[in-house]
Amino acid sequence: MLSSLAPRWLMVRSVLSQIPYKCSTIATDTINKLGSGSCSHSYRSHLCGELTESNLGETVTLCGWTRKKRLLGEGIDIAFVPLGDHSGTVQLTCDSGKWANLIESLRTETVVMARGVVKARPEKDRNSSMHTGGVEVEVESLEVLNEISPKLPFLPSTKGLVVTEELRLRERQLELRTPHTQRNLRLRSEVAMAMREYLAHEHGFVEVETPTLFKRTSEGSREFIVPTRKPGKFYSLAQSPQQFKQLLMVGGIDRYFQFARCYRDEDMRSDRQPEFTQVDLEMSFVDMEGVIGMIEGLLSTTLTQLTPHLHIPPTPFPRMTYNTAMEKYKSDKPDTREDRSDSSTLNFLWVVDFPLFTRNKDTHKLESTHHPFTAPHPDHQQLIYSSDQSKLENIRSLHYDLVVNGVELGGGSIRIHSEDLQRDVFKNILKVPVEEFSHLLRGLSSGCPPHGGIALGFDRLMAVLCQSSSVREVIAFPKSYQSKDLLTGAPSSLDKQTLATYHIIPKNN
Ligand code: ASP
Repeated sequence: MLSSLAPRWLMVRSVLSQIPYKCSTIATDTINKLGSGSCSHSYRSHLCGELTESNLGETVTLCGWTRKKRLLGEGIDIAFVPLGDHSGTVQLTCDSGKWANLIESLRTETVVMARGVVKARPEKDRNSSMHTGGVEVEVESLEVLNEISPKLPFLPSTKGLVVTEELRLRERQLELRTPHTQRNLRLRSEVAMAMREYLAHEHGFVEVETPTLFKRTSEGSREFIVPTRKPGKFYSLAQSPQQFKQLLMVGGIDRYFQFARCYRDEDMRSDRQPEFTQVDLEMSFVDMEGVIGMIEGLLSTTLTQLTPHLHIPPTPFPRMTYNTAMEKYKSDKPDTREDRSDSSTLNFLWVVDFPLFTRNKDTHKLESTHHPFTAPHPDHQQLIYSSDQSKLENIRSLHYDLVVNGVELGGGSIRIHSEDLQRDVFKNILKVPVEEFSHLLRGLSSGCPPHGGIALGFDRLMAVLCQSSSVREVIAFPKSYQSKDLLTGAPSSLDKQTLATYHIIPKNN
């Protein structure tokens, strides 16, 4: 039982857990249990989807978007105008004699404010499949708050709406209004809230923001470059907060997390976006078991409460070595489900014992399998100094990936905390300029605790939880498959003057 003193997030969390996932009235039920908090500081007294027989006789003020109106002709001067918001829809009944002009010109999806009395619907008109199906609001005043364009590209409230993805992304502001997208974004918000609570309040993590305007380093992925007004000087957008979070450990933050925005200029896939969100964390004085145990606790606690429609296997999640995964599944992110189409079972799997280095097929150079900061397994540490190249490829690392149903959900590692070892890896094996990382090396030599961490792809996690085939379904303003923002038109061209200001073309061109 929740006490009335329970924090609001906990109440929301508990309420969401009682709602079948496929139910599009997820918000309605939440609101009903929460009372009218959503109406404070607002024109309205109630949300459209929360009215029931318990409100009979009350005068209410509602705001929302009109759905398709229905006029009852032949001498009965009544117009039915369903009014909806994120919580659901309620039927307004209007005297179409009194409101004749307004009703006639009222277009579907117009924003209105209506004041009226909650009445019971006649028995024959009751709709038991709607939360508000037993009531209607007899309108006393009706005001259009904003006119809409005569022809919207599509009507988000249409049942079974079929619209191309291109149009949906271009008109994302309308798509956001659909119950499907509302449900995804609201669940995303609840999961983020519950994760913050678990990490910060239950496990002593500190949420810290790190810079996204960073400098280019040979960390792994291809980065976006940001020109500046200083000739020849560029920022690089952070591909992850990796180096900063390690420096936070040096700085005694001890346990860090962040819902971090990351940028990678990589080829697009259905589970990739050029900018994406990671649940990024780092812990001091920890080994691999500590990080793995923390993530298992985080996921099982959060998901058991918020996504009861999904089957989450008990912890500890199974583990498989990289070699077994490659031999048995020919993939380092094996899908271990018995059925490939069952999206309601989440087969979490840890893949461990990755090689520390992998040889690039094109350049034949050794590269970090994870990233250059990953520690070798202690039993293999001495092999770093071997002159035998084949031995280097056999070094096992303290890197772990979390996979769910064939999707790589995240990865992390125990890090190198010795400056000497890190320098040797950069210089002798990866052959990258050590100066690029002088800030990190200074950190490692200034009292760096043993540490490790992980990052979970939050968009990917939400796509799995929402049973969506693409991360675009769970991001408010995603880029298209071609990496374009179809809503705003980014990336866009720049005029010559701007290009010259940023020294991309010569001045006076
Ligand atoms: N920074 C790593 C990544 O983005 C995650 C980690 O090692 O914690 O993949």
